[in-house]
Amino acid sequence: MAWMSWAGFRNNLTYAAPELERLGIPALIHVATGHIGQSGLLWTQELDERIGSWKQTNLPMPQGQADASMPTHTADRWQLADRIRGICKRLPHEGRVAYLNRLRQEQLSVDEGWQRELYAFLSWDEVRALAHRGFSIGSHTVSHPILTTLSRDDLLLELGESKSRIERELSQPCPWIAYPNGGPTDVSPGVVQAVAEAGYTIAFTLMGSINPKSLRPLEIDRVCVPGELSVDEFHASLNGLSAWLRTL
Ligand SMILES: [Zn+2]
Repeated sequence: MAWMSWAGFRNNLTYAAPELERLGIPALIHVATGHIGQSGLLWTQELDERIGSWKQTNLPMPQGQADASMPTHTADRWQLADRIRGICKRLPHEGRVAYLNRLRQEQLSVDEGWQRELYAFLSWDEVRALAHRGFSIGSHTVSHPILTTLSRDDLLLELGESKSRIERELSQPCPWIAYPNGGPTDVSPGVVQAVAEAGYTIAFTLMGSINPKSLRPLEIDRVCVPGELSVDEFHASLNGLSAWLRTL
C-alpha cells in the first residue's frame, strides 16, 4: 500500500498513478481540498520558486529578522529556502501571508521553470478520475495548516470541511486523514481528539518511528520517501531499519 499526501498535486495522476497501476500497488491519495481546482502554487512551492530565482543580494527574512545575504550557490539557496520554510510553517497564517506579500512586492516576476507543471493542482474531475481508477482519496485538511497552531474553531473547520467536501464530490465516505507535516510538534492529543470528533477513523502521522504491534488507528506512522533517496536508503526506510537506527 502506498500513501501519498502531496496536497493534491496533479503529478499524482500524471506520474504516480500509471506507475502504481503498472506495479499493482494500491494507494491512498490525500488531498488538501482548498487547493483542488486552484491555479496558483502551494505557498511552500511559491517560496521555493521565489528564493530560487531571487535576483537581489539581500533576502528579507520572516518575523522581522535581519535580511539574509543571498547565497550564490544553488545548494545554499535551497538550504536557506528550507530554513525559511521551516520558520514560515510555524507562523500564524496572517504572518505567513504578510511575509509572502513582502517577497511578492520586491520581486514582481519569478522564473517559472519545471516546478509549475510539477506542482499544479488536481481538479475535482481529476480527483474523481483517480477514484474511478481504484485509488482511495483521503483528506489532508482544507489548507494544509499545522493543526497544533490553530484555534479550536479553525481546527474543526479544517477537519470537517475537507471530509465533507471529499464525500460530496466523490459520493463516498472519507474515513482517512493525513496530518499536515505529521511530526511530533504537529500532532497533539487535542488534535487527535478533534480528528475523532470529526468522524475520521484512520489517521496518519509522520513521526519517523516504528508502529507498535497494537496499532492506534488515529496515529498510524507512515514512512517519508523523498525523491532523492538511494535504492538502499529506500529499502532501509521501508523495512524499518532507518527508524530503528534513529532509536539508538
Ligand atoms: Zn502534506
